[in-house]
Amino acid sequence: MNSSPQECLQTQNSFNVKAFSRKVLRPSNIEALQDIAEMAEVIEQHFYILGEGSNTLFVDEQAPLIIQPKFSGIDIIEHDSYFSVQVGASENWHNLVCLCIEQGINGLENLALIPGSVGAAPVQNIGAYGVEFADYCHEVTFFDFSNKKVTALSNHDCQFGYRDSIFKGALYNKGVITQVTLNFPKSWQGKTSYHGLNTLPATATAKTIMDAVIQLRQSKLPDPDELPNAGSFFKNPVISEDEFKRLQKDYPSIPNYPQANGEMKLAAGWLIEQSGLKGGIYKDVGIHKKQALVLVNYAQGSGKDILSLAKYIQQQVKAKFNIEIIPEVRMISVLGEQAFTAFNHFDLISELTYD
Ligand SMILES: Cc1cc2nc3c(=O)[nH]c(=O)nc-3n(C[C@H](O)[C@H](O)[C@H](O)COP(=O)(O)OP(=O)(O)OC[C@H]3O[C@@H](n4cnc5c(N)ncnc54)[C@H](O)[C@@H]3O)c2cc1C
Repeated sequence: MNSSPQECLQTQNSFNVKAFSRKVLRPSNIEALQDIAEMAEVIEQHFYILGEGSNTLFVDEQAPLIIQPKFSGIDIIEHDSYFSVQVGASENWHNLVCLCIEQGINGLENLALIPGSVGAAPVQNIGAYGVEFADYCHEVTFFDFSNKKVTALSNHDCQFGYRDSIFKGALYNKGVITQVTLNFPKSWQGKTSYHGLNTLPATATAKTIMDAVIQLRQSKLPDPDELPNAGSFFKNPVISEDEFKRLQKDYPSIPNYPQANGEMKLAAGWLIEQSGLKGGIYKDVGIHKKQALVLVNYAQGSGKDILSLAKYIQQQVKAKFNIEIIPEVRMISVLGEQAFTAFNHFDLISELTYD
């Protein structure tokens, strides 16, 4: 386990904003996690568990205690009708997808090129192109700070939902994911119904689907290595049927996705675009020209600049549609993760500039 004073985290968050931590711990075994569980910062909840930082915004330059799990390794076990793949939390997600497809283990092809670590995948139940992590998750291994033990959570225990899981709920900040086990049935049927993949032939292999997904993603989303960003910044809001009917009168073409409970999910990107904000720039940060849901750091933007822009977007969307959009990205202060509403030290933006 290494500890380093004032380590710079700029290259460890996909927004590429400057942040420093006095203590960065990289536990690679259970004994190291047991020591961490006794630290005052952990007991007081002033820490942040960092994977690859692709869904993380360090709002303040001073970051809290960082725990960056370093549990590596990929083990593949073949059974009669399925493959079982055990993966350490610090493995890279896209590398895992490529390895599986290379080995003839099909299932994760639609989830290619999602940035980040394997350990973060269950947290928000990553998903894309009609597939989500939960579809193949057999078990998540979790170290619990309170009893200093490792437990195995079944797929059902993880309470997966849309970009949601128990790790955002009852187990939030309670411990560290050290490993996941995925099961892939040998009988496989590719999922190509999603727009953009539906022109592929019914005989398309998993490799063909993966290549198509990579191409689609590269054409739609900016690469964080070239233009720092954290993917979708806001969650898609879910509103009541009544509220939806009210909106539909004024905006008949409003995209909507009916939910099982009668509520309606709306597209946050559409709301931002209709508010006239797409391509808007504030200082060195902005709203992507092609994807209104993606905030980008053009050069030396700070976490506070991105916070100020996000607050402005939220306020503009609220003013136009009376809907409050909430960030999906995790917002970190010196005290650890905070709710968006808890950040009050932002600049009030009066207007954005446009190229
Ligand atoms: C360009 C781009 C495109 C994206 N596209 C998608 C997409 O299509 N679908 C999608 O779902 N997401 C997408 N994302 C979001 C991101 O890829 C996922 O949220 C990913 O799982 C984050 O992984 P990470 O390791 O970078 O997590 P981090 O940002 O480091 O952490 C994210 C959360 O997970 C927690 N965490 C991380 N590791 C552990 C652990 N071992 N134990 C417990 N908690 C942990 C952190 O505390 C934090 O709450 C995209 C992001 C980018 C930049």
